Amino acid sequence: MATHRTKVPRPLARQLFVEVGHRCAIPTCRATPLEIAHIVPWHRVQRHDFQNMIVLCPNCHTRFDRGDIDRQAMFHYKELLRLPNPNRVAPDDPSPRAGLIRAYRMFQSETIRWQESIPLLVSAVCLSSFGFPTGNLGPVRIAASVARAATDKLGELGDEDVAEAANNVFDWYRCWASDVFDLLPSAFNATEDDYEDRREERFMLFADLHEEVCAALDLDPTELDFFEARRDDQELPKVSLGTRGFWEADE
Ligand SMILES: [Zn+2]
Repeated sequence: MATHRTKVPRPLARQLFVEVGHRCAIPTCRATPLEIAHIVPWHRVQRHDFQNMIVLCPNCHTRFDRGDIDRQAMFHYKELLRLPNPNRVAPDDPSPRAGLIRAYRMFQSETIRWQESIPLLVSAVCLSSFGFPTGNLGPVRIAASVARAATDKLGELGDEDVAEAANNVFDWYRCWASDVFDLLPSAFNATEDDYEDRREERFMLFADLHEEVCAALDLDPTELDFFEARRDDQELPKVSLGTRGFWEADE
């Protein structure tokens, strides 16, 4: 007596996605894309009930279907979603805590946007070093000044330690950008080891900032998402001219 499975109504789907902040509901995963799962399977309940539904990434969904994650555990994850989660801050929450968390997220995304603009800077300075017009540096300047504004905002809302740690991250990027701008050989001819050192340096600065922000919020650092650990797509761009050795003559 299999009943035709109905579509999840859009308002219910939205409510479920918002419940998890549009991330996989397993706190240690939080991956995307997302699927809606019934905790007690559809063929048994044959209805869409918010309390019996949860949003998962395809990987966690498959593991749940296979039984690697059992139903009790899944209800437990659903239960956890009711607890206040510092990673889910309403955009209109006026509390100072929410403001600081939003400023921290903003700082993270804007420094990454700046990082993504560095290859543009590289091509611009290369063109000009060969006597071509510099090209459009506007997007790089905008990315840098927005990152500066995000750094100041985070500093204002956090305490002195947060301000200092955020400045250290900003300065790290600023030094990198100005090395590129000044055509310093070290900015271009990085070996794999240099590159690893750079990654490590950046990681430590972001980790310091994360600790300071969590201390200011009175949170354990594991309670707040540390984006460095989450986003493998945020690799440092390898700055290379494809003409390794061109600048080595100056050293
Ligand atoms: Zn997942």
